[in-house]
Amino acid sequence: MSAELAHAARISMLGQLAASIAHEVNQPLAAIINYGKSTRRWLRRSQPDLAEVSSCVDKILSNANRAAEVVSRIRAMARKETTEAEVVNMSELIEDAITLVQREAQSAKVKVRRTGSTDLPPVLADRVQVQQIMMNLLLNAIHAMQDVRGRSRELCIDSSVMPEGMARVAVIDCGTGFTSGGEGRLFEPFFTTKPDGMGMGLSICKSLIEARGGRITASNNEWFGATVAFTLPLVGQHREGEPKSSYD
Ligand code: ADP
Repeated sequence: MSAELAHAARISMLGQLAASIAHEVNQPLAAIINYGKSTRRWLRRSQPDLAEVSSCVDKILSNANRAAEVVSRIRAMARKETTEAEVVNMSELIEDAITLVQREAQSAKVKVRRTGSTDLPPVLADRVQVQQIMMNLLLNAIHAMQDVRGRSRELCIDSSVMPEGMARVAVIDCGTGFTSGGEGRLFEPFFTTKPDGMGMGLSICKSLIEARGGRITASNNEWFGATVAFTLPLVGQHREGEPKSSYD
């Protein structure tokens, strides 16, 4: 019986791993398909626009690289390897994430703006993982606003430095907010309210952030919409003896 239990546990871990790979790689793949289609349109013009083609190919390459990096990070996790914490420029990373979701934001008619400090001191984390976290939160916020009528669809990214030596990034939307009863389960694997959702995004974000000594919280805003905020330690704030990763 115990051998069967161990086997079942392995299968369920594999299932979660497969689900998280599928979830994280889906977004760059969708971007590659879109830029591939644009490339074809620019090439099929009577006068092909090679400057546009070249910019689309650059975007295809950067999305493909991102997908490959995500897969290698997830494989490292499965092998229980720790990825080294590195110095990450949060402000730059936030700008990059905004650029990456621009297409989705435009087609959902969502205005993106930044508040707070746009010049955060660097944090100690894994750059690709923080990029994954930002993308998850921004896409969730955009999805939560796509059916909003009668008020403007605004997404605000607020960043600040906390007194205890942490950087805080909050993604604030004015969408539907969390459904009542769902609030406590958001970070559970496979919890989703979307017909095509996987429910892996927030649970992955939570484990990545906590592995670096940060925290993630989610709450409904007073009027409408939701705020999901996370903290990460600033460079020089990592305390000796703390695990750098829960995968250690
Ligand atoms: P998925 O997006 O695949 O459903 P997530 O783990 O990212 O998985 O999110 C889990 C659930 O949390 C979503 O299905 C949705 O109900 C809720 N959620 C997440 N972000 C928001 C948000 N900004 N506004 C409202 N609900 C949200």
